[in-house]
Order: sequence, then structure tokens, then C-alpha cells
Amino acid sequence: MPSRHCLVTGANRGLGLEFVRQLLARGDRVVATCRHPGKAAALNALTGEHPGRLHVLPLDVTDPKAHAELARELDLLDEDGARARLDLLVNNAGVLHSGERFGRVGAANLEDSFRTNAMGPFLLTQALADRLGDDARVANLSSELGSIAGVGRFGTPSYNISKAALNMATALLAKALAERSIVVMALHPGWAQTDMGGDNANVPVVDAVAGLLRVIDELSHERSGSFLDWQGRSLPW
Ligand code: NDP
Repeated sequence: MPSRHCLVTGANRGLGLEFVRQLLARGDRVVATCRHPGKAAALNALTGEHPGRLHVLPLDVTDPKAHAELARELDLLDEDGARARLDLLVNNAGVLHSGERFGRVGAANLEDSFRTNAMGPFLLTQALADRLGDDARVANLSSELGSIAGVGRFGTPSYNISKAALNMATALLAKALAERSIVVMALHPGWAQTDMGGDNANVPVVDAVAGLLRVIDELSHERSGSFLDWQGRSLPW
């Protein structure tokens, strides 16, 4: 497969960092974004190992001005001849506020979760839409906890609500970008062994990302807007 141009948000740790590693390993060019590039030691180490193929740029996904700034930075990279159109946008950055109890769920958690998990991916995709090549793919890291049909216990409402909103954003983006053959999907990575996944998580990060990349590559245009897990199984909305 020819080298692709990819952008990953929240790329300094967890699944985002592993996306960057695996995309570089298969020969792709990657723009890796994170809130604090100066502190992203693992990511910055990768730039030395893959000269010219990895660019680390700042991005807080909750800040629409930062989306516009990122788009401008991508144009500068274009002028260098280092960057062409984006083939893959991975909206990975996410936040989970644990320990919420009914009666004490606060506006701050709901607002932060919505801004990070739903608004961020939607607005960033919109801001970068012109830079997505025809046939590009947009992967939104959702969660089975965003499934309304799958609601189990009260859980972490700010997270569940925001991921359900992300699922709607995914379906709408799929419609908006269909005429350019851009495939958009909401993906559940499994219970992955990251800071967010915690001590009991059972899916190694390497396996989660390898599975997700397979799903991203293989999803047909007809199935754009799907909600799938890391093994390609459909999840109920
Ligand atoms: P981690 O908590 O390990 O990492 C989260 C990443 O998101 C960090 O890089 C963090 O950056 C970044 N981030 C958070 N807020 C922002 C923001 N406002 N702007 C930019 N970056 C931000 O999570 P995972 O790697 O486990 O999760 C990745 C995605 O997968 C998330 O969307 C998550 O909801 C989803 N997911 C994960 C599951 C799991 O079991 N791990 C299960 C289901 C879904 P910083 O270091 O600056 O905080």
C-alpha cells in the first residue's frame, strides 16, 4: 500500500501514541497532535527515529481557534513539500471523569466531556474537511459506553452522554462527506490497557490499535457511518 498522510489527536500517550507508532511502522507520514508537545517525550523520541515522516504539533481539541491554527500549520507543511492531502484523520483524544454518582453529576464534567469527546472531533473534522483527500477516512474513537441500546448501569454519565453525541456526529459527518467518498466511522477499541482503561483492562494497546487499523482500512464506502469495535463487529447504537 502506498504511503499515506495521517493525523492523530491525543497522540502523546495511550492509544494515540500507539496509532502513531503503527502508522510510522507501515511507512505512513504522520502529524501527531497533543496538548503539550514539549512534554511529549515518547512522541518526540519517535521524530528522531523517523526523520521527515513525523511532525508533532500542538492541539487542544476543545479549542476551535486551535483547529484553525492547526489547519494553517498544515498549509505551512504543504509549502515545504512535506505534506499532501490527509488520507486518515484519527480523532482519538478523549477524557473520562470517573467516580460520578447520580445526584452529584456536575456541569463541569458534562461540559468538559462534551467539548473533548464530541464537539472536538466534530469541529476538527469540519475544519480539516478541505484537506481530506477524496477517499480519505475519519476514525472517531468512540466507546461501547456511548451505545444507548447497550446501557448497562449508571456508570460514568458524562462520558456515556458525550460518546453518544460523538456517535451522532459520526453519522452526520458520514452523510456530509459521502459525496467525496470519505468514509467516517465510530470505533470502540475494546477495554484497552491505557491510563483510561485502568488496571483491569484486558486488551493490549498494540492489539487494539492493530485491530482498529484493520477495521479502518477495510470498511467499505457503503458502510460509512458505522459503529464498530476493534474486531470489526457492529455495535448497537
Ligand atoms: P488515555 O487517557 O490513555 O489518553 C487520552 C489522550 O487524550 C491523552 O493523550 C490526552 O492528552 C488526550 N486528551 C485529553 N483531552 C484532550 C484535549 N482537550 N485536547 C487534546 N488531547 C486531549 O486514553 P486512551 O488512550 O485509553 O483513549 C483514547 C480514546 O479511546 C479516547 O477517545 C477514549 O475515550 C477511547 N476509548 C478508550 C477505551 C479504553 O479502554 N482505553 C475504551 C473505549 C474508548 P493529555 O496527556 O494532555 O491528557
